[in-house]
Amino acid sequence: MVEWVDTHCHLQMDTRDPAILLNRAGHVRHVVVPGVDLASSIAAREIAQMAPGRAFYAAGLHPHEADRWNTERDGLLPLMEEAVAIGETGLDFYRNLSPAEAQMESFVDHHRMAVEMVKPLIVHCRDAFRQIYEVLEEHGAGPWVVLHCWTGGPKWSKRFLEMGVTFSFAGPVTYHTGDTIRRGAAVIPPERVVVETDAPYLAPEPHRRGPNEPRYVNFTGEALARIWGMEATEVARLTSERAIGVFDL
Ligand SMILES: [Zn+2]
Repeated sequence: MVEWVDTHCHLQMDTRDPAILLNRAGHVRHVVVPGVDLASSIAAREIAQMAPGRAFYAAGLHPHEADRWNTERDGLLPLMEEAVAIGETGLDFYRNLSPAEAQMESFVDHHRMAVEMVKPLIVHCRDAFRQIYEVLEEHGAGPWVVLHCWTGGPKWSKRFLEMGVTFSFAGPVTYHTGDTIRRGAAVIPPERVVVETDAPYLAPEPHRRGPNEPRYVNFTGEALARIWGMEATEVARLTSERAIGVFDL
């Protein structure tokens, strides 16, 4: 059977029962559930405990919430120690829900913890390619840096590729508005890519109108297969291998 790994789904932020969502995703071998703050990181851990070996969690503070870094940091640290990854963190200068300085401080601190704890770093990047690039250039990057919901075009894809990062593609690569993303994907070798749903958000075509869930991850993988001129089964194999290796699942 073709098996996928959904490297980014917020099952704890869905009103539906995570056990049901996992049960009907039989073609998804593993899922990684990232927190966006302390409470959601604790909830992500509960899902991982409910489905050991299948669901894993990451702990971190989303850039939207970065102004809470000083109050949530101490609570997040022990969760990070136990999690498979640090995040999600990053920078979002599109919605700017937290001040830029707070986002930067939180992101750099998350990065430092990932280095210290030797864990992958899940990075949200929106309207912040240059700033993310500069932080990684200064503080270090490699396969352990996972650029989640990657939307860069060829230029940024090539620049980040040289840093050795892992690119995680989500539903937008299937959208009719996703041309830039598809041109970016075309310059990235499949071996460097993982897939995700970012559920319950960003459902891929043809499910875009409804809530997203792990069982839809194959639609993103199939879009990549068309871009690369490969069989979807091969994309599943390569992206799952990369995900299992990077997150040590
Ligand atoms: Zn997310």
